[in-house]
Amino acid sequence: MEEFYPMISVEEALEKVLSMFHPLEPEEVDLLDSLGRVLAEDVFADMDIPPLDNSAMDGYAVRAEDTKGASPENPRPLRIIHEVPAGYISEKAVEPGTAIRIMTGAPIPPGADAVVRFEDTRREGDTIYILKEVKPGTEIRKAGEDVKKGELKLPKGTLIRPAEIGMLAALGKKRVKVIRRPRVAILATGDELVDLGETPGPGKIRNTNTYSNAAQVIKYGGIPIILGIARDRREELAAKLREGVEKGADLILTSGGVSVGDFDLVKEVLAIEGEITFWRVRMKPGKPLAFGVLNGKVPLLGLPGNPVSVMVAFELFARPAILKMQGRTCLEKPTIEAILMDEIPHKDDRRHFIRVIVERRGDGWYARLTGAQGSGILTSMVKANGLAIIPEDWKKAEAGSKVKVMMLDWPEEMACQ
Ligand code: AMP
Ligand code: MG
Repeated sequence: MEEFYPMISVEEALEKVLSMFHPLEPEEVDLLDSLGRVLAEDVFADMDIPPLDNSAMDGYAVRAEDTKGASPENPRPLRIIHEVPAGYISEKAVEPGTAIRIMTGAPIPPGADAVVRFEDTRREGDTIYILKEVKPGTEIRKAGEDVKKGELKLPKGTLIRPAEIGMLAALGKKRVKVIRRPRVAILATGDELVDLGETPGPGKIRNTNTYSNAAQVIKYGGIPIILGIARDRREELAAKLREGVEKGADLILTSGGVSVGDFDLVKEVLAIEGEITFWRVRMKPGKPLAFGVLNGKVPLLGLPGNPVSVMVAFELFARPAILKMQGRTCLEKPTIEAILMDEIPHKDDRRHFIRVIVERRGDGWYARLTGAQGSGILTSMVKANGLAIIPEDWKKAEAGSKVKVMMLDWPEEMACQ
């Protein structure tokens, strides 16, 4: 098969993958369920916020004119005629020589044009002594200063964070239209695999990829559909892939069975049940990655089987596809430049993704290896917070050299700012 499928670069592979994905349809969800999703409607303000001029402080609503020349040495007395808590409208107006006691958030009574904070007053019975001159507008929050009625406050395409949830609540949105989450079917392949709850017999190992992949799907906002384990037989693989299509998968992920072993049947089945777009990417780990489309409709990423390779290939290709389907536009993980603390041999012309621990020291970032880098050594992922990227044409990466590191747990938005 090698001759039909030349090894392609990471960039070319990513471009081919992403060209197959588009933002999915909108759905309406309860406000809190919209967190982390992309808004699929323009949200306009149905009212001014705040709706009325109101007090920014607990204090006294006054006519600024009545405070002229006030100071601790020259207190200006005003008669307290009323009190207004937040949530109520004062039925009295402030007349010359009077003040209304007012709480934070309460609408400014008619006649008043400023608020004097409690701290700048002294009370004696029904009289309040003003100890500080204030200008008109002091401690008054103007109607509409946050949001103006009719304004387009949150446009379609906005990524909803807690602040946007607050704004949507302020705008009365109990339900919100957002792009739906992609359904991602996950299939592990291999005769050697046993699932959780079973004891691996001789020659058997536990299925780990299903779980690391499902967790990655959840982390990036998708809904995993676990298809379980397919044995290395064409019919069983094909049946499981069809099950994924029937369950409404927007993307199918397989792991294992894409290398050049005698029982690596995923490519073959993909070619029969659909079409292969590419196979093999110039990277390590993750070279035997396959991508194609099942039945002309559901994209399939055939991830490698080794527990590290499958996770790295997911980060590079499945993650951005899952984000793109959700309407996200920042698809790249942020990278930093770090000083490498260990030497890394580089013996081939593939791009290497080395598991590293990145630390900040002083004003620089430093990256050290997580230990053994074998693609079956999941410990290297457990310890890592980044993937150091060693370019294709490097002969080796020397200690002290600067490398780009993709930060695994930093949000993509950091790369867009
Ligand atoms: P393969 O490409 O199918 O030969 O798989 C490569 C390596 O990954 C083999 O050592 C497999 O046993 C291992 N492997 C494949 N799938 C899984 C899985 N779901 N969980 C753990 N290891 C796996
Ligand atoms: Mg296998």
